[in-house]
Amino acid sequence: MKEQLGLLYQLQQIDTATARDSDALKALDDGSGTAGELEAARADLEQMEAESTRSQADLRDKELRLAGAEEDGAKRAKEAATSTNPKQVEALGKKIAELDRLKDKLEEEILALLDQVDEQDSSLQEQRSRISELERQLEDKQRAFAEQSARLQGELADLETQREALIGQIEPQLLTTYEQLRSRAGNLAVAAVVNNACEGCHTQLPMARLGQVRQGMFIVKCEVCHRILVWPE
Ligand SMILES: [Zn+2]
Repeated sequence: MKEQLGLLYQLQQIDTATARDSDALKALDDGSGTAGELEAARADLEQMEAESTRSQADLRDKELRLAGAEEDGAKRAKEAATSTNPKQVEALGKKIAELDRLKDKLEEEILALLDQVDEQDSSLQEQRSRISELERQLEDKQRAFAEQSARLQGELADLETQREALIGQIEPQLLTTYEQLRSRAGNLAVAAVVNNACEGCHTQLPMARLGQVRQGMFIVKCEVCHRILVWPE
């Protein structure tokens, strides 16, 4: 029985390691959160680029209109200077004043647009560097995920092989008891004695019981948590 209990303890260690690795595998970050952030950031960038294109077109349009108004104003000023018809001079004066108001308005709008285009340029730059940073983070996360999941899957495969080899050596009835206990006791069916206490529930064990566990002549269970007790060699 002592040998069987030793094998059962080994099986418990394999099952504990398997649960630990499976949990670690599930908890790995595959980068999907960062990928989502990156997608949203790229969509924002596209929208920002469209807005910037619109502002620049608007700016060019206003600059052309300003140049046109200036040209028109100069032409009319020349006409007024050479005209001898007072009515025509007055009409030209009105028109020139009107063009001056238009030029003032356009100049003001152009200044505001220049500020807007500047702001948009720096926002675009910020957004592009944010995207580069997210791309770098995503790449790192995906690489780490690939490495860690390969390592954990390799470990799990090794544990599975060890388990297969081990269960062939354990008496079927003992194995059944083990599995029943394990499913009830949070994956821990076999508890080692640590500092004279049950590893599973930390209850101190009486001397007589410690001796029985150490001898390993028969199965000794913890009176509190009912786990199979083993003496760690
Ligand atoms: Zn216990």
